[in-house]
Amino acid sequence: MQFKQDGKRQPVPYDMTSPQNLGQHYDVAIAGAGIIGLATALFLRERGLSVVVFDKGEAAYEQSSRNWGWMRTISQDMAELSLALDSRPLWRQWAREGDFGFRPCGLLSVAADAGEWSGLRGWLDQATGRGLDARMAEADEVARLLPQFRRRWAGAVFAPGDAGIEPDQAMNFLESKVRQAGVDIVTGNAVRRIDIRGGTVAGVETETGFVAAGKVVVAAGVWSRWLCATLGIVLPQLRVIASVLRTTPVDGGPDVNLASTRYCLRRRRDGGYTVARRNSSLTHVTPDSLRFMRQYLPNYLRQKQLLRVRMGMDFFRELRLERRFGPGRPNPFEDFRTCDPVPDTETLKETLDHLKEDAPVFRSARIAASWAGTIDVLPDALPVLSPVARYPGLFLATGFSAHGFGIGPAAGRLMADIVTDTAPTASAAPFRLERFHLNGD
Ligand SMILES: Cc1cc2nc3c(=O)[nH]c(=O)nc-3n(C[C@H](O)[C@H](O)[C@H](O)COP(=O)(O)OP(=O)(O)OC[C@H]3O[C@@H](n4cnc5c(N)ncnc54)[C@H](O)[C@@H]3O)c2cc1C
Repeated sequence: MQFKQDGKRQPVPYDMTSPQNLGQHYDVAIAGAGIIGLATALFLRERGLSVVVFDKGEAAYEQSSRNWGWMRTISQDMAELSLALDSRPLWRQWAREGDFGFRPCGLLSVAADAGEWSGLRGWLDQATGRGLDARMAEADEVARLLPQFRRRWAGAVFAPGDAGIEPDQAMNFLESKVRQAGVDIVTGNAVRRIDIRGGTVAGVETETGFVAAGKVVVAAGVWSRWLCATLGIVLPQLRVIASVLRTTPVDGGPDVNLASTRYCLRRRRDGGYTVARRNSSLTHVTPDSLRFMRQYLPNYLRQKQLLRVRMGMDFFRELRLERRFGPGRPNPFEDFRTCDPVPDTETLKETLDHLKEDAPVFRSARIAASWAGTIDVLPDALPVLSPVARYPGLFLATGFSAHGFGIGPAAGRLMADIVTDTAPTASAAPFRLERFHLNGD
């Protein structure tokens, strides 16, 4: 299978990924080799711990290589700003070690009307004084920054230090770096459940057998909900499908990453653009949508224009599926090696048409490829980076709600601090599992 961003990402053959010492005791086992599992593994290894990472499919074939490739501070929740800022130097350091198209090109978030402009200014007011480089740009300056566009924007927030990255190339780099650091990465081997003995974590049951580990981190993206459920832990996570396209090469287009409600874009190193619309994501009503309705309702009512909700057969498909997760037998983790939803090509085409209307430089651009990814969301759109009080030795690093790629490096480092019990309480507090009050806490 080839990954779709640039068709170049090739899976590492399984036989090269099997470590010799499976069966030994690891300090930490991690379920999920996306950016979060791999970054956590790297920082744990740097502290001298022995670490194994399992993935049910290839490393980073789900969200971590399907995303837009933005590393942004703009519009981040205040609780996450420090993760975004702390990730900048880590990405810069990694970009000195490997070439994955890292470009500190800045992000310009433009407002189409006075309402959007006031929302952006409100965010900037809150963020001011927290060490950001983001600033306001009035309509005339935006016109100067975007000479290719004939649409006039009401205003914008500009963060010159935000960056663009080629996600699949970055994940290739990170996977190799983590292997070289001495972490065992085992692909094509799902974690079926976490083994608990005498009330504490003893290891993981994988599809090829038991692996002993003193600590276990669940970093399984959209699948974390089900891995938690095998232990009776309730993680109020839902899934949202987002579609993306890349264009054929475009000469003279904007260099800066651009965010608007009509389209979002990033110039790629192949000369094309990654283009998507942020208010076109889709969620299917499932049994979990009903179970967690109370938790999601406040955020949904505030932002319902950002999401389309569809009711259909998925409800019953999911009902059947959720009964099949669990120990001792093949289960859906193994059926779905890679979550590869069908992109919404109609909306993508409309999005590119909007871009062509607004910026003639894109008129000759065609859709070179499109793909979709399934995003793991939580009710407050903040991740869980947390120990699980009920089971000493168990940790969750999941629910990044569409912005885990850019903040992945610092999130992985904070997670390593949490696992080794060295995290400053204030940095970890907003990300505790207990905030949902769903697990008898
Ligand atoms: C279309 C799209 C655009 C986005 N754009 C951006 C962006 O521009 N900037 C940004 O910061 N973020 C963006 N995001 C979000 C970002 O990609 C994610 O937040 C981030 O990649 C999450 O990383 P992860 O490691 O938690 O999950 P994933 O990358 O999904 O990795 C989870 C891994 O766990 C594995 N797994 C699951 N269950 C098991 C199991 N039982 N056993 C073993 N392995 C298992 C999966 O196979 C998978 O490889 C976007 C996401 C999408 C889909």
